Amino acid sequence: MAKPMDQYTWRELLVGNVISEPGSSQEYKTGDWRSLKPVFDNVKCIKCGVCWMFCPDNAIMQDADEFFCADLDYCKGCGICARECWPGAIAMTEESK
Ligand code: SF4
Ligand code: SF4
Repeated sequence: MAKPMDQYTWRELLVGNVISEPGSSQEYKTGDWRSLKPVFDNVKCIKCGVCWMFCPDNAIMQDADEFFCADLDYCKGCGICARECWPGAIAMTEESK
């Protein structure tokens, strides 16, 4: 009989094993891995939403004034939003502690 999932060592796990409950990705704050973060310039932003479309982590949201900003709990700092922002409203800056 198979052991409960939490009793396997990582070397015993099967390739492709799912180790978390379905639908639990919001619990994992992947922003911890980030070394760079996007900073949005609302003067240059034209609210086109291109950054939101391209973010691979769905980590861009809108504030109360409908400007776009990053959800730093989940942003990994990949820089794709800054690269795709054609008005140049996003700058990647070094993350501080
Ligand atoms: S892509 Fe740039 S200009 Fe467009 S909404 Fe995002 S930050 Fe604003
Ligand atoms: S840096 Fe990457 S993960 Fe963070 S908001 Fe931009 S596209 Fe998304």
